[in-house]
Amino acid sequence: GDLPEAAVVENMMQQTYELHVDLSEGTVASYIPKLAEADPGWFGLTLASATGSRFSSGDSQQEFSIQSIAKAFVYALVCDAVGHDEVRERIGVNNTGLPFNSVMAIELNEGHTMNPMVNAGALTTTSLVSGSTWEEKWEFILQGLSAFAGRDLELDEGVYASEMETNMRNLSIARLLQSYGHITVDPARVIELYTRQCSLRVTTEDLAIMGATLANGGVHPITGTQVVGADVSRDVLSVMASTGMYEASGDWLFEIGMPGKSGVAGGIVTIAPGKGSLATFSPPLDAAGNSVRGVHATRHLSHKLGLNLFSST
Ligand code: GLU
Repeated sequence: GDLPEAAVVENMMQQTYELHVDLSEGTVASYIPKLAEADPGWFGLTLASATGSRFSSGDSQQEFSIQSIAKAFVYALVCDAVGHDEVRERIGVNNTGLPFNSVMAIELNEGHTMNPMVNAGALTTTSLVSGSTWEEKWEFILQGLSAFAGRDLELDEGVYASEMETNMRNLSIARLLQSYGHITVDPARVIELYTRQCSLRVTTEDLAIMGATLANGGVHPITGTQVVGADVSRDVLSVMASTGMYEASGDWLFEIGMPGKSGVAGGIVTIAPGKGSLATFSPPLDAAGNSVRGVHATRHLSHKLGLNLFSST
C-alpha cells in the first residue's frame, strides 16, 4: 500500500521526534576533528514521498556533512555511466564484515574492494568518475549529487580541511588499491575528490528527497529530472541493503527491512522503494558508527508505516 494520509504522517513524525529526542547514548565522531564540534542534541527527521511531499520534525533544517551517505549517490552516478557488469566486477557487492576503513578487508580479498559502501570500494568508485580533468570529475560529482537533491549543494570548507589534514588512512587505502591495479589514476587526487564529496552540506530535507529519487526509479519527484536510470536505482538499493550500515547491516535489515546508508556526521537515509524515503540526523553514534537516535527512530517509523520490505502484510 501507499503511505498513510498527510495528517497522519505529520503526526507520526512529531511523535517519533518526541519519543526519541531524550535518548542519550552514543558518541559524536571525533576522528575528523571538526565533526566533534556538533551539538549532540541535534535531532532532525524528514520523510519524503515518491511524489515529493515532505514531512519533517525537529532540526530538519540543520546542515551537516553528508559523509559516507555520498557513497550511495556517487555509486549511482558511476553505475549509470559505467554499467552493471563493470561495477560488479571492479567494485563488488559483498559485505566485508569489517569496519568501513579496513585495510584488512582489502588484503583478505586479494585486493578486491568487496563493495562500494566501504572506503576501499568508494575510492575505487570515485576513481572511475568520468571527466578529462580533475575539475571536470568534481563537477560531475557535484552536479550529480545536486541533481539528486534538486538544489546546488555546497562544500563545508571547515570539514573538508579538517579531514584532509587527518586523512592518512584513506590515502593508504587508495595507494594499496593502486598497488593492486584497481585504482589507475593518482591516489592523492582520488582522495581529494572523495573527501570533497563527503564534505557536502545537506539537511534531512535534502537527504530525504535524494532518497526519494532512488525510491522513484531515479526520477527526482519535484524537478522531474531523470538523475539515473531505474535499473541503476534498483541496483544501488540492493547493495545498500546488504552493506549500507557498516558492520551492523545485518542487524539493520533484520530490524528495519529496508536499504539504508549512514554517515559519521550522524545522517541516515532509508529508502522505501516506490513509496519514499526517510532521512534522520543526530550526531551521537553507536559502536558500529550509526546514529543512535536515527536507528531507533527509523525502526519506529518502519513499523508504524508498515515499510519493512519482507513483510507480506
Ligand atoms: N569521510 C569519512 C571517512 O572516509 C566518511 C566516513 C563515514 O561516514 O563512514 O573517513
